[in-house]
Formats: sequence, C-alpha cells, structure tokens
Amino acid sequence: MKSIVVKFGGSNLRHPGDVDRVVEVVQRYKNPLVVVVSAFYGVTNELIAAVQAAKAGSGRPDAPTAGHHYTDGLRALHQTILEENFAAGPLRDQVALAVQSRLDQLERYLTGIHCIGDVPPFVNDAVLSYGERLSSLVISEVLKSRGVLAREILPEDLGLVTDGVFGNAACDFAISAPRVVLALKKEGVAVVPGFYGVDDQGKATLFGRGGSDYSAASIARCIGALSLDVWKDVDGFLSADPSAVASPRPIPHLHYLEAAELSYFGAKILHPRTVEPLFDQNIPIRILNIGRPERGLEPYTIVDGTRRVTDDIVKSVASSDDVGILKLHGPGVGFKPGILARVTGTLDQKGINIKSVLTAQTAINLLLARGDLEPARKAVQEHHLAGVVDVSADAGVSIVAVVGDGVLESTDHGSAIASRALASALASGVRIRLAAAGASEVTTYLLVRREDRDKTVKAVHEEFFGRG
Ligand code: ASP
Ligand code: MG
Repeated sequence: MKSIVVKFGGSNLRHPGDVDRVVEVVQRYKNPLVVVVSAFYGVTNELIAAVQAAKAGSGRPDAPTAGHHYTDGLRALHQTILEENFAAGPLRDQVALAVQSRLDQLERYLTGIHCIGDVPPFVNDAVLSYGERLSSLVISEVLKSRGVLAREILPEDLGLVTDGVFGNAACDFAISAPRVVLALKKEGVAVVPGFYGVDDQGKATLFGRGGSDYSAASIARCIGALSLDVWKDVDGFLSADPSAVASPRPIPHLHYLEAAELSYFGAKILHPRTVEPLFDQNIPIRILNIGRPERGLEPYTIVDGTRRVTDDIVKSVASSDDVGILKLHGPGVGFKPGILARVTGTLDQKGINIKSVLTAQTAINLLLARGDLEPARKAVQEHHLAGVVDVSADAGVSIVAVVGDGVLESTDHGSAIASRALASALASGVRIRLAAAGASEVTTYLLVRREDRDKTVKAVHEEFFGRG
C-alpha cells in the first residue's frame, strides 16, 4: 500500500487539547503514514522574539550559566501540553525529561547568541526549528501512548537534504529521495517536524515562514506518496475570504497553478511553494478540515494536475495586504536600455524579492512585499540610477487577484474576465492604482487602496458569483 503524507499545521495545534483531534485523525487512516507537524500555534513567533531578546542581551542581566531563562515561556507551555495529554505517572515524567532536554539545547543556542551579541544565519535557523522539534516529539509520544505504532524521525535522520540556503532553502530531491525512501521503510507512523531540512553538513536550513507545507510536499515527492493530505481548520479553498464575503463557495478542484497563484496572492490555505515538488509526479494535495470529523477523510479541495476550465472561469478572488508599490519616475525610464537589470540587480544584492514589474515610458512599478519597500527605496536611491529622477514608495495598497484557469483567454458574454473585474471594482467606487492581466494564464489582479480592499473583493466576487 502506498504511503500518504499528512500535514498538521499550527492552526490544528492551537490548544493543548488539540492533540486529541490529531490522534483521532491519524487513527482514521489505513495507509502507511508520514505525519509532518508544524510548531504549536504562536511558538515560531516566540522563538523569533527570543532570538531578538538574546541578541539585544536584554532580559538576562545574570551570567549565562545561571539557569535557563529565554525558554521559560516555552517550558510552561509544553508542560501544560504534557499535563493535558498524559496522565500523571512515570510515562509523563519520561516524556517531560525528553522535552526538557530539547529545551536545554535551545537554551544553549540562545545563550550563545546572548554571549556573542549576534545571530549567525545557521544559528537562527537552528533556533527556529525548535518549535517543530518540540511538537513532533510531543505528538509522537502521545500517539505511542494511545497505541499507535509511531516514531519520530528528524529531517537530519530522514535525509531531507537542501540546497543549504539558510532561511529560504529548497529541497535537493536527487540527494534526498533515496535516503528518505530508505529511512521510511520501517512500518508504522513516522512523525517528522516540518519547516526545515539540513544542508550537506547536517545544519538545519529553514524552508521559510509557513514552510511545513513545503516539507510535507517534499517528503511526498521523495517517496512518491499517494497524496499529500493537509489538515486545516477551514473548509478548504473558498471563492473568497469569508471575512470579506458573506457566503463564499467551496472549491472542490483546483489545478496546481491555480492553487499556487491563490496562495501567492493571499489565500491562507497553502504555502505558495507547496505545489512545486508535486507538480511533475502529479501527486494530489487534499485539503481537509479537522473541525468536521463527520466527513471522515473526505477532502474539501483536491489540487492536482487536471485542468478544469469551468463555465464560470473564475474560481476565487484572493487578496493580500503584504504588498507595496515602488515607483521609479523619469521621463525616459521605459526606453532606457539596461535600467531594469540595474534596478533588479540592486534589489537582488539586498536579498529583496520582486513580486511583479510593470513598466511605462515614464515610470517603472515594482511590486514588493510591504516590509521590503523601505529598504528597496533606500537601496535604489543610494544607487543614483541614471534616468531615474524620483523614487516613491506606496505602502497603502492591497492586491486583489482573480484566479481561474482560462482567465486569460476567456470571453464571457463578449467581455473578458479582466475587464469585468476592473469594471465591477470601478462601479463600486473603488479607485484602481494598477491593474495587470496576462502575467499568468490563470490570474488577473488589481491594486487598490488598503481601505478599499474588502469593497473590491465583494464587488468582484459578486460580479462572478452573484449575491449571497
Ligand atoms: N512554524 C513555522 C512558521 O510558523 C512553519 C509552519 O508553520 O509551517 O512559520
Ligand atoms: Mg503554518
């Protein structure tokens, strides 16, 4: 029987008692399983804060040898989780010792940061991996205590090897696949911490924020899994965010590209890179809701390589605030050979990722993550690029994306999807800052003022899905 890779995210692990639901879900499966877990909700953010506190040397005026300190909050949290999931007794004490020993390792890393007042990238990645290392330890032990044949396998023992880029690694499948297959040969449920793989020296390298989805997808690809089952606390992909639209429609099927674009443009269901490892082998992603036990293993959304151009073309309207426009003005920038290469080179040096580029004769517009906007503006200004007379940054925008296979080629009642999206937004009184169609076959998007985001989503959603 083929294995299934099952992923539980932070949203499945909000409260100490949530582990029960995870155990119950694991027990529903008949196939061999690899369970990939995120950290408990909020733990990665706490680790980031701990790194900052340790670096600043704050919160620890005493000598580094005077007991733990940075990990106190996490110790208390994990103690509560153990108390909630194990009866008092020798087993709980034994698991508590194992958890403590991991927290001690973590404390030593943080003490190291405190001592040197700096955070080398490999140390940062090691520290942040502890949220997952703790949850995988606890969850594997709880599974065992409930009679499941489970064992924890860390990515270093699994052979999940990456390209070695700290903070934003990619899996090296040629190296990893045979090792992972071998490591997972043994019977039973393997529990693996998500979020990181290791470089060729065995150092933890993170897959980026929210990267456990990518971990799970990478393992699924390595072993040629039957499916990747991602458990959420919502009903899969929807035609819009329920906080903006009263009753969005469920989406039973999406193509990999549609899911990737929706994730890129703000749908919070999957990490945008999740489809990457699965694409070639056509391994389906099934999105299930842990809050609906009555559905068993019936997914809400299946993402795979099958194109389904529906009559309505549009499958979903997504939005994100994590965007800003960097505008380079100059009377002839659109006609200046090489200028784009210099701009992108400048940003590349600073490690800034460009989401999109739109040029005209007198302006180059770059869409960036909001946090990158100011550093990018500074970098471009410092470089005094010939022909650029002014640089401006607009952080007050949101992006609204209309996604569906066929968006580009479609005509519907004689009018293309992009123009219907634009017209419906304009008719609702929204001012459009930028609009783009054709960048991918499945997406067209609008940039609007932040305060108009929900109004735009509502208007565009109503245009394609009607009222209600
Ligand atoms: N715990 C990590 C994060 O918060 C990875 C994940 O949740 O997928 O980014
Ligand atoms: Mg997550």
